[in-house]
Amino acid sequence: MRRGGPGLGGQIFTLHKRLGSNAEWLEPHEIHSRWPLFNLQGIAAGTFGPTDGHLDAYGLLMAYKSKARSLGAEYLEDEVTTLTLEGSRVTGARLASGRDLKAGVSVNCAGAWASQIARTAGVEIPVVPIRRQIFAVDTQVKPERPLPLTLHPSGLYLRSESGA
Ligand SMILES: Cc1cc2nc3c(=O)[nH]c(=O)nc-3n(C[C@H](O)[C@H](O)[C@H](O)COP(=O)(O)OP(=O)(O)OC[C@H]3O[C@@H](n4cnc5c(N)ncnc54)[C@H](O)[C@@H]3O)c2cc1C
Repeated sequence: MRRGGPGLGGQIFTLHKRLGSNAEWLEPHEIHSRWPLFNLQGIAAGTFGPTDGHLDAYGLLMAYKSKARSLGAEYLEDEVTTLTLEGSRVTGARLASGRDLKAGVSVNCAGAWASQIARTAGVEIPVVPIRRQIFAVDTQVKPERPLPLTLHPSGLYLRSESGA
């Protein structure tokens, strides 16, 4: 993988830099000096976001929910089965309970399942749910400092947890 070279990693890095990211390109010796625990055999280079961080996504979601409710939003527990259309315009959604919702603007925020909802309006988006397994482990050998979110091209990833 060359620095910003033609490989996928290089292309993503170049795009991030063009968009103003402060991502760093690290050669194996630079990775080793920061995180000596990593086995770098076969690793040509890595990219690192020095200001990346973690947040409690559930906590943030609950904060948004409380604020939206305090501003008068109504929360429904139901499932969108189809988007409703007038011509090519989305005008709302039909729910599993049979209720129809009308809206001037509809936001499809169904995450990994967004493509299923979009398809009901004839829109194909390249979003596919993938099942993942995540394990929290307490290793006997501890890193000297927290490990950054580390993604292997195979899809395997790890990071240090912050809580107990
Ligand atoms: C195990 C795990 C750990 C993660 N840890 C982190 C982390 O530490 N930090 C981090 O930043 N990210 C983390 N992520 C990623 C993060 O959770 C997702 O990127 C984020 O939740 C995506 O937000 P979203 O709103 O797009 O989709 P989602 O959070 O998936 O929300 C989509 C919602 O739509 C609902 N929905 C789907 N279909 C319908 C339908 N037909 N009708 C009505 N509702 C529907 C779903 O029930 C869901 O509530 C983690 C993900 C997983 C799976």
